[in-house]
Amino acid sequence: MTTTALWDELLVGDELAHLGSEPAREARTAPLPDSLQPSVREALARRGIHELYAHQANAYAAAQRGGNVIVTTGTASGKTLAFNLPVLDALAADRHARALYLYPTKALAQDQARSLGELGVPAVRAAIYDGDTPTERRRQIRGWANLVLTNPDMLHIGVLPRHDLWGDFLHNLRFVVVDEAHVYRGVFGSHVANVVRRLRRLARIYGTEPQFLLASATIANAGELAEALTGEEATVVEDDAAPRAERTVALWNPPLLDAELGLRASALGEASRLLAGLVGRGLRTICFAKSRKSAELIHRFASDRLDAATAARLAPYRAGYTPQQRREIERRLVEGDLLGVTSTDALELGIDIGDLDCAISIGFPGTVASLRQQWGRAGRREHGLAILVASEDALDQYFMREPPALLERHVEAAILDHANPRVLDGHVAAAAFEAPVDDGDAATLGPEALERAPHVPELRHTARGWVWAGKDAPAPRTPLRSTSPDAFLVLDASSGDVLGLAERERAYSTVHEGAVYLHLGRQYLVRELDLESRRALVEPFDGNWYTQAKKETQTSIEEPLRVERRLGLELSFGRVSVTEQVVAYQKKAAADGSTLDTVPLDLPPTTFDTEAVWFVPRPHQLEGLETMPLLLSSLHAAEHSLIALLPLWAMCDRWDIGGLSTNLHLDTGAPTVFVYDGHAGGVGIAARGFDQFEGWVADTAELLAGCPCERGCPSCVQSPKCGNLNEYLDKAGALTLLTRMSNSG
Ligand SMILES: [Zn+2]
Ligand SMILES: [Zn+2]
Repeated sequence: MTTTALWDELLVGDELAHLGSEPAREARTAPLPDSLQPSVREALARRGIHELYAHQANAYAAAQRGGNVIVTTGTASGKTLAFNLPVLDALAADRHARALYLYPTKALAQDQARSLGELGVPAVRAAIYDGDTPTERRRQIRGWANLVLTNPDMLHIGVLPRHDLWGDFLHNLRFVVVDEAHVYRGVFGSHVANVVRRLRRLARIYGTEPQFLLASATIANAGELAEALTGEEATVVEDDAAPRAERTVALWNPPLLDAELGLRASALGEASRLLAGLVGRGLRTICFAKSRKSAELIHRFASDRLDAATAARLAPYRAGYTPQQRREIERRLVEGDLLGVTSTDALELGIDIGDLDCAISIGFPGTVASLRQQWGRAGRREHGLAILVASEDALDQYFMREPPALLERHVEAAILDHANPRVLDGHVAAAAFEAPVDDGDAATLGPEALERAPHVPELRHTARGWVWAGKDAPAPRTPLRSTSPDAFLVLDASSGDVLGLAERERAYSTVHEGAVYLHLGRQYLVRELDLESRRALVEPFDGNWYTQAKKETQTSIEEPLRVERRLGLELSFGRVSVTEQVVAYQKKAAADGSTLDTVPLDLPPTTFDTEAVWFVPRPHQLEGLETMPLLLSSLHAAEHSLIALLPLWAMCDRWDIGGLSTNLHLDTGAPTVFVYDGHAGGVGIAARGFDQFEGWVADTAELLAGCPCERGCPSCVQSPKCGNLNEYLDKAGALTLLTRMSNSG
């Protein structure tokens, strides 16, 4: 029996929202370039590589011409070799040349170091330099290695401020590789873009201008991302020439249990049924869940459906595994000893577990790029099967009704804004600490850095330029994953581990006392939020509820930057100030979302400046909706569903976006809907919404029109993060308004 026939009998029933197939593709190859160094050519031959895919040859040729390059091709298309080739070639040709590789996680740097080692090009001396590198090894690595693998945090705090120790390395720096570049978006990306600019400036001070080689999952705006990250143009190599096996794609929607309420059967139950069915047929399958708890539940449910011998061939795959443990799982999968693996989607980046037959994603992972990465695990060589099991979330349900919106959509744009002053100021300070900043640095740091310099405290203007006049090195004060320097530390009280940072403006709603906090797929309960020391103490949590904060929000318009007549109304983009006060939270049952308890909180208000897009509907667009509370409920429902769909246009999470709707706003004097960037200063999300307004509103109207519920449900107008706990929502009113707007276009 063929593999297809094996799963055909499983993929039947009303749950099947879509069944399609993506055709196989032949490889397009190119000969190894003549200019390649003999030692590199020999190393490739030892690995059985005698020719390249066309895109690898194109990337090599573009790098040979001397410019920056970004490669954005599919999963397992050989991107690594595409950027390794010019680097290895340069290191083999010039014993002084150096290269720096940036990876977003330590695990990925380890994987890359291992594969470079296996390639065995004699001239290459690769070493990892990160927070785990022992002090006594560091000096040796700086002097010895010609290929250093590190992460943006280490570059930011450990390398650039101590550039005097790296003088020889910087002077000879030929290539900087930025792998997984799509990860550098939003707040993190905005910071990394500044770290990269500081690196370019120091390299220039040491007399060199390195070439940047970037690799990214397929995104809509690779060239734009490369330029945003490095400040320089790059050649885009995007024509994927790697072979691809045929892939069957199934969209699977758990059955509707209550049409009026929009209540569906559990996605976990459906996924475990599929997993057990596939594994029971001998198919190697990986299943991606949003949280570790979900991954464990699926593992358990699927095991219960199988005989003991088959159940023993299922395993969970967790964060925190050592490379040895990961390779053990990989080996067992390759040898067919293991058949099924469940994993959190937080791990998708670090996973290297070879070829599988099937991949199941539970819930849309937030971006098409992530979904494609997960699906890319299925059938790299033979016919594969990829399944998305929908959650009740609005985007998931939208895709189930409009499969082409998911399957034919160009992947999202990765956006960032290095010039956000909340991000930039810390890097201007760090740059001034590293070397005086003067007008000549505008070419590398960007003109915005020079404009901000007079506003950064502790910088002093001297004849040599702006210099650092503070006491300690400034870089450690600027964490790369937050726009506020006064972020809260989230500490696991049981182990003492730092789990992460919560931005000040969001800490009160995410890590208040009693909140259930999710980190890398694990649940924690917040024991204490200490406002003085800015710490949240949490402990592992196994309960079956989650929490939702109730907050009061106000916005005031600081400065409209762009105002245009769009969709029959006045659409604005600009700077706003947002004041939020968290006043209570609700405990909600994980099983059905029912409210278990409401607990009041006494927390101070927080205010932050950010960017927003806002609009004032015209009277004819609100005709019939003018009475209260219908007016407010219609605007509020429109705001929620707009927020739910904005991640289709801007690569972000709905948690990165905030909103406010009011029947009367003080600044506009009229009913107004605001959608704002949830990060202080803004990272480009609202700006993207402004640019894409017509398509965004049309898709949102379609979402509302297609939802089978009667009066609004979690799959259309309800939001898991509504500060009003989803009160005052009118689905029909929102649909009327958005349809009228769309028809005005
Ligand atoms: Zn609905
Ligand atoms: Zn709301």
